[in-house]
Amino acid sequence: MRDHLPPKIFNRLEEAGSLAERSGVSAFAVGGLVRDLLLRHKNLDVDIAVEGDGMAFAHLLADHYKGGLKTFERFATAFVVYPDGFKLDVASARRENYAHPTALPTVASSSIKEDLYRRDFTINALAIHLNGNHFGELIDFYGGRSDLNKKTIRVLHDRSFVDDPTRVFRALRFAQRFGFRIENNTLRLLKETAADELIHRLSGPRLRNEVMLLLSEKNPLRAVRQMARLELLRFLHSSLKLTPYIDALCAKIQHAIAWWNQRFPDRPLDQALVYFMALVEGLSGSAVDATLKRLTIPNRQASQVRMVRSGLSSALRGLSKSRRSKPSEAYRLLAALPDEGFILLVAKARSPKVKRSLTTHLTRCQHVKPSLTGSDLKAMGLKPGPLYKKILDRLLDARLNGEVKTDADERDLVKKIATL
Ligand code: ATP
Ligand code: MG
Repeated sequence: MRDHLPPKIFNRLEEAGSLAERSGVSAFAVGGLVRDLLLRHKNLDVDIAVEGDGMAFAHLLADHYKGGLKTFERFATAFVVYPDGFKLDVASARRENYAHPTALPTVASSSIKEDLYRRDFTINALAIHLNGNHFGELIDFYGGRSDLNKKTIRVLHDRSFVDDPTRVFRALRFAQRFGFRIENNTLRLLKETAADELIHRLSGPRLRNEVMLLLSEKNPLRAVRQMARLELLRFLHSSLKLTPYIDALCAKIQHAIAWWNQRFPDRPLDQALVYFMALVEGLSGSAVDATLKRLTIPNRQASQVRMVRSGLSSALRGLSKSRRSKPSEAYRLLAALPDEGFILLVAKARSPKVKRSLTTHLTRCQHVKPSLTGSDLKAMGLKPGPLYKKILDRLLDARLNGEVKTDADERDLVKKIATL
């Protein structure tokens, strides 16, 4: 552990373990951190499960570090925020009961063994004991370590997907991320759950969360193909299909995103949204609306999806017109697109001419600004009003097209426009 965790996290786990020992409870690191430690993947999310009163332990921990604490008593979970901003989740070990499939579970306190049994897959059901003498011991009741070695995704029991169908998407997500196989029985159960239409019962936010997380994985095309093969796309919309065209588009998006991230590391993209836009490309407008509604996609993103849908083809047409178009025309077509729409456009663009305009736009045009501002116009004696925007837009166009080069050129142009 010491070798593969950042020292700060290692020390805090060790300290949490000795605090647990002194206060008579057992504390365990659980979940993704343990899995990723064994896989040597970076993971800085620390989840601690406590056998005994987890909330009292969270209070102790927060007091000890003079940190902040937020508790969710109903779920027996809390998070502790250390003075330096480091966060740690604490939960009482618990057993979950599902009143009916897809219901949120009721919770009862339990042993770590039961706590691990309610988890999604064996590889996520590992724990590391943190208490004093036991510090660092791997707790592996369900064969998680062997499945990690075998690169296998396996549920802990046959009702797992019925209890919580979001696990269908989680299985694909972990398989994608680690290059693991979904084990045969698990795959059979997954298909049964899909065939039983249980996924329809998931709420919009839960389904959206899973789909978007899947699309946020690095190079998610393989997972999207698996969704298509397992006939899961229909849960987003009955007519959603992965056509060869969309498959190829997703592959190009993969490249376009890699290019973007290399070029603009400080301007992160909503990758999931780009793939989502590509997936719904073949749907009618009303089917897109229905999909956005089913997934309760937030308004801002939903309007971006609609806007890109309507703006993209006119941008493509405009950019590929045969006559030499002015840089300002391309700018106007592209400036309105969000970055995610821009990526989709890059992926869709086939002609070299369009590709060139897109690169010029990004590398040059986006940074061009007129040198005069509103206050300069005021100083020139112009009355503030709608005319300002018109003038500044014209100045920008002229700059983009190289028609003005200096401050004085701009002033001349302003005079011309203002006296028209
Ligand atoms: P990631 O690296 O994507 O965060 P993770 O394994 O940490 O992966 P989380 O969603 O953060 O996944 O959940 C933390 C842990 O909680 C999981 O490892 C798993 O043990 C458990 N868990 C989360 N969601 C579910 C679920 N739907 N059903 C069962 N167990 C779950
Ligand atoms: Mg996590």
